[in-house]
Amino acid sequence: MKIAVLGTGTVGPTIAAALSALGHDVVIGTRDPQATLARTEPGATGGAPFAEWHAAHGEIEVGTFADAAAGADVVVNATNGAGSLAALTAAGAENLAGKVLMDIANPLDFSHGFPPSLNPVNTDSLGEQIQRTFPEARVVKTLNTMTASVMVDPASVAGETTRCSSPATTLPPKRPWPVCSRNLGTGTSSIWATSPPPAAPK
Ligand code: NAP
Repeated sequence: MKIAVLGTGTVGPTIAAALSALGHDVVIGTRDPQATLARTEPGATGGAPFAEWHAAHGEIEVGTFADAAAGADVVVNATNGAGSLAALTAAGAENLAGKVLMDIANPLDFSHGFPPSLNPVNTDSLGEQIQRTFPEARVVKTLNTMTASVMVDPASVAGETTRCSSPATTLPPKRPWPVCSRNLGTGTSSIWATSPPPAAPK
């Protein structure tokens, strides 16, 4: 699948790398590709400088927000919440129309110091603003309540987790039903459960 990941902070590169590793064709969107590719300073949360990250992920193209969104089947909004509407406007309403738009952004408001509050909140939300502004996009608010590393590795959170693969997994032998792994949170044990799907009702 062709996926546009809009955002070059911590979340964008994290999601882009994970999707690319799964075999998707990923393009990262940014305001100014040349300036972004020239960045050598560490990311805001201390991550690798973008240039260094991109050198290790050369298969991921970097383009403008519009370049990235234009050819995508799915668009991910991983831009700063205060700039999300501007970023998506730059991406182009026509490039979002009819597509799933995964919105990970939070409209953080630091005007009263740290920790930030949300603005808008309670009577409106960034997700609703995005959906109103781009009515033809299919906005899905998701992953915004966890840190970036957990978005791509939910099993890293202590406690019981269950993950299921897609049917026809590449795990040998190929099975036409999902394969599930259950992590009991001990860090050592996991139980694999496989079963055929229930028979379709007649
Ligand atoms: P961030 O620093 O919040 O956002 C960086 C991105 O926002 C860059 O791509 C930047 O564009 C774009 N941007 C900033 N101001 C803009 C403006 N005025 N117009 C257009 N684009 C603008 O990065 P982040 O920490 O990765 O967070 C991304 C989003 O995910 C945020 O909304 C954040 O609240 C949310 N989130 C983050 C985490 C996390 O673990 N960090 C967890 C949950 C949710 P350029 O590429 O051009 O610089």
